[in-house]
Amino acid sequence: MDEPNHSKPSPSSSPSSAYQALVRAGPRLKQLQQVHAHLITNGTHLTLSLLTKLAILAYSSNSSITYARKFSLSIKNPDSYLFNSLIRISSKLGLLYDAISLYRRMLFSLIPPSSYTFTSVIKSCADVSAFKLGKIVHSHVVVNGFGLDSFVQASLVAFYAKCGEIVFARKVFDKMTERSVVAWNAMISGYEQNGFSKDAIDLFDLLMASSCVRPDSATFVGVLSACAQLGALELGCWTHDYITDHGFKVNVVLGTALINMYARCGDVRKAREVFDVMREKNVVAWTAMISGYGIHGYGKEALDVYNLMRRYGVSPNEVTFVAVLSACAHSVMVDEGRALFSSMRKNHGVVPGMEHHVCMVDLLGRAGLLNEAYDYIRGLKKPSPAIWTAMLGACKMHKNFDLGVEAAEKLLAMEPENPGHYVMLSNVYALAGNMERVEKVRNVMIKKRLKKHVGYSTIEVDQRTYLFSMGDKSHPETNEIYSYLDELMRKICEVGYVSARESVLHELEEEEQEFALRYHSEKLALAFGLMKAKSESAIRIVKNLRMCEDCHLAIKFISSITNREIIVRDKLRFHHFKDGLCSCADCW
Ligand code: ZN
Ligand code: ZN
Repeated sequence: MDEPNHSKPSPSSSPSSAYQALVRAGPRLKQLQQVHAHLITNGTHLTLSLLTKLAILAYSSNSSITYARKFSLSIKNPDSYLFNSLIRISSKLGLLYDAISLYRRMLFSLIPPSSYTFTSVIKSCADVSAFKLGKIVHSHVVVNGFGLDSFVQASLVAFYAKCGEIVFARKVFDKMTERSVVAWNAMISGYEQNGFSKDAIDLFDLLMASSCVRPDSATFVGVLSACAQLGALELGCWTHDYITDHGFKVNVVLGTALINMYARCGDVRKAREVFDVMREKNVVAWTAMISGYGIHGYGKEALDVYNLMRRYGVSPNEVTFVAVLSACAHSVMVDEGRALFSSMRKNHGVVPGMEHHVCMVDLLGRAGLLNEAYDYIRGLKKPSPAIWTAMLGACKMHKNFDLGVEAAEKLLAMEPENPGHYVMLSNVYALAGNMERVEKVRNVMIKKRLKKHVGYSTIEVDQRTYLFSMGDKSHPETNEIYSYLDELMRKICEVGYVSARESVLHELEEEEQEFALRYHSEKLALAFGLMKAKSESAIRIVKNLRMCEDCHLAIKFISSITNREIIVRDKLRFHHFKDGLCSCADCW
């Protein structure tokens, strides 16, 4: 009871107080080293769990990875808890090398890996797309009998999806007997991120139909991104309603996904509504709104949002500048663009990269300042193909033949196998009426066996997305669609439409023209959309390539005779067709 003080153990000599001392030191290397030294001089018994805690904190301190590595190597007789903890922390910190070498040490120490080990190691491989390494780990998974562990399987699905191996991902997913929402999310966003948005949506339908698992906010982010890619506004709206009706919290990630979805599906007003009610906005959310306005050609609004963001004290990053500069380019706001560009490094410490230079060339080019754009390119150390593509587009727009040919030749020298460049070059020749050269380019393409990109358009009807390629005859209602389109074309001819093929000497576009311009994918999608339209609402089409001039012209006429708003998103921007006019003012 009256034990004298001196016989009490000193505070740091018992493992529990030593543990507390470590917790107090936290992930701060200097403090940790002090505690460590103190423990040794006090003769505290350094248990494995104390050493493990110290090693975890040393890794988390992020200040000296060498110390953390050396220290963890010095621990004798490590156990599976130590290995799993350290593998997990290095995987979390993105230290693939450490995760893998710890995993190897674990195997060499004959400590059997567990489900925790595998999920962390596989996540590390996924984060850096280390495909070969991950496949080896997958074989270990099977050998060690974890092939049917649902956590490990979910991490494998995410791993294969992140490596772009979507078929492998699906194989693992299909084998799962118990699928958590994490696995569903990995598969849905895997499809979306690899460009298979239609499959992402089909899988989402399957998830909603299953009674075993409920979606969470990560599911919605995946499906909304898929809707954005496809321009599936109806499904996007339905998802938004579902989120609201079921009381899901719209955090900044989900809010940004909603903004993107609405903007990319053509409803920028709705995007703004979501944006305005978001409580927490980070730079990604602001940038999404700026870029949303930009692709619709609302340069002034994009700039307003940018300025508002600055007033709120949010610092723009390099992606913000790409968004706001390209918004300026699409709206030909030269002075504003120049001012922003010069403020990048000076006021925000953002070094202009190639993408920003592309925006500047695009901006100057669209404004018709072709010589200035050309000088700008000459001032760059190593102009990328995208820079010359922007230049070429501007030359085509302003019908500058000489500079156009030069830009196209530069492009061909850089990427001789890219069919798009040949098409552009031949367009420039065609514009100049030089059909002999057009023929030459075509022959080169045939010789090189270069195939042009396949153009396709998607349209959503009753929450289902339909895909049309040029001259597509796969749709069950093909005959009706074609005759509906023929009738439309006949009607617009009556009111003055003349095929762009006849008005401009256009030999090649991104899509092959022999099969008549009439059956380009966007025209087929439009005919189908008009046929099926129940209400007066706008028709929305998404095209993977740039629209050709003939489709652009025809749709202007169609918007007028049908008295309907038609919104087409092509590779570069939105076209809002109404009353015979387009929002792009024929510059795109
Ligand atoms: Zn076309
Ligand atoms: Zn347009």
